[in-house]
Amino acid sequence: MPSEKSATEHGTEWAFGLFRPLLRDLRLQSVQDRTYLRTSNKKYGLIKYHMERCVIVALRYKFSNENDKGVFVWTYDKKRNFYILYIIINDNLYKDNMKHEECVKRKLVTTHEFTHCTAAMLSLSGMYSEQLIGSLQKSMRKNVDVIQSVDVDSVMSEFKREINGENKSVKTDLSFRKFDDEHFRTGYEGFEGSYYDLNSNLLFSKQLFEEYFGKNKQQSFKDCIKRGALQDAVILLKEASELVIEEKNLDRRLVLNKIQIDFLPQYLAETAKYVNSNR
Ligand SMILES: [Zn+2]
Repeated sequence: MPSEKSATEHGTEWAFGLFRPLLRDLRLQSVQDRTYLRTSNKKYGLIKYHMERCVIVALRYKFSNENDKGVFVWTYDKKRNFYILYIIINDNLYKDNMKHEECVKRKLVTTHEFTHCTAAMLSLSGMYSEQLIGSLQKSMRKNVDVIQSVDVDSVMSEFKREINGENKSVKTDLSFRKFDDEHFRTGYEGFEGSYYDLNSNLLFSKQLFEEYFGKNKQQSFKDCIKRGALQDAVILLKEASELVIEEKNLDRRLVLNKIQIDFLPQYLAETAKYVNSNR
């Protein structure tokens, strides 16, 4: 077994880089009927981490309870030595002409179930005996987690609480389920990062934002600031934010908050360097 790990391997960023391409290719916002994705596809580079024996199946399903929004389950195909991982999303999350708010909820649900899927893959990557596979299956079955509308609402209010800067550990309503790292963890993975952060990044990351605020726009942003046109610089940021919110079904406050707290200080630091080097 390879034991040499670089410092960043098996952390949140590593997992984000590994799983984001899968999430994109699954196109969970527009699952037609079933989508199959074989992780043995070399382009995902999962062989290196022994995660190539999975087939991810995304499907829409009419749950008997319309408030059940999504679930993640997996099975082991012993004959072919393959794991089938199912991301099952309630059919009622896919309607024509959905409001932005409803699309935001669908995005939350699909990303949540996909994060469970990453936890399964990270756990299966270290499984070499049938006994272990059986134990993992048992432990995950015990915790099969059907995400419901009330949960989606609690995820939303969790984000809002964060945005409002309230202490995360203070819960006013204890019946709200908390989707923290522990919620996703199977106990069989060697993952050293945080599933909470992984889930948040899979929803909205700097990489995604920069698909809308690329190198050219960043350069214009710096130039605006350099010539003192702050308002123009803000407009550039705002236009990119509006576009990503709309096109990627993201909660507006989540996006604006993350830009303000995480990304903007980085852009401003780069701008300061740029202005100083061009004096
Ligand atoms: Zn869950």
